[in-house]
Amino acid sequence: AQKLLQVENLVTKFKTADGKLSAVRGVSFSVDRKETLCIVGESGCGKSITSLTIMGLLPSNGEIAEGSINFEGTELTNLKKEELRKLRGNKMAMIFQEPMTALNPVFTVGYQLRESLMIHKGLSKSEANKEGIELLKQVGIPYPEKRMKQYPHELSGGMRQRVMIAIALACKPSLLIADEPTTALDVTIQAQILDLIKELKDQLGMGVILVTHDMGVVAEVADRVMVMYAGEKVEEADVETIFNNPQHPYTRGLLKSVPNVDDKEHNLEPIPGTLPNMNEQINGCRFHPRCEFATDKCRSQEPKTFDLNNGHLVKCWLQEVAQDDEVAAAKASA
Ligand code: SF4
Ligand code: MG
Repeated sequence: AQKLLQVENLVTKFKTADGKLSAVRGVSFSVDRKETLCIVGESGCGKSITSLTIMGLLPSNGEIAEGSINFEGTELTNLKKEELRKLRGNKMAMIFQEPMTALNPVFTVGYQLRESLMIHKGLSKSEANKEGIELLKQVGIPYPEKRMKQYPHELSGGMRQRVMIAIALACKPSLLIADEPTTALDVTIQAQILDLIKELKDQLGMGVILVTHDMGVVAEVADRVMVMYAGEKVEEADVETIFNNPQHPYTRGLLKSVPNVDDKEHNLEPIPGTLPNMNEQINGCRFHPRCEFATDKCRSQEPKTFDLNNGHLVKCWLQEVAQDDEVAAAKASA
């Protein structure tokens, strides 16, 4: 069956003074209805650019250089700006980190919700008002009639994020993209917002792409996980596999850097080194300068992506050694 969203070999480039630089380098993945895919990696790894590319929201110097984005059977890379804008208003919605969230401080919550309902669904003002109140209820906002009359600064950060989610839901999207939606919120509120996203996903049958740098968030919401490093997908698997059987050295490093609630002081082990810049030329595996297992081959040849079963994909030469060992073991026992 056709997936809700199918991305193949996506390459996103930016025109800069140094020439065209690749921010996303041949990434493939899919998302289905009622499924949450978490895209995880350090800041600058290409995860936000990937989601902005899908939404058609790249800055003007950005472009899709290669690849295909198929959404509900429509090839998005062929669409004109105007067609993409319509689709964005009707079928796809995006929410961002709370302070970056685009609530206008000079208009009431109700005004902003109504605007979006009138534009996207062609409702009259009074219909939009009724529907707005319903949406606020749906995202768990108490006293919605009162909230409609308030300004954004009169609400807490968590409530503002709920309002943003309500606005995103106004168009009844089949795909919701959330980029670090809880990063600015304290942990209790964070958990509530993540729960809300999960609930809405099931209720409305949406696909969700959640972009985060936080493995704790991944553990809470993901069905499947795609780990990105320096513009590439380095590992993908279902969430249990990522936590119980991570294979890529980078994924393992990310997991080690998750603070353990019981042992805050000893468990924080960030991966040494930093992400390369987009304009840095790196031969072989792009992670090799930071990898404790790097060999000469890693420094000269780009790793293949190995498929370990059930869609567990790992872009690392260590898998070749592992597979050779298995072949050798099979031969020896034959
Ligand atoms: Fe490390 Fe080599 Fe695997 Fe890259 S390919 S992650 S350098 S072991
Ligand atoms: Mg980002």
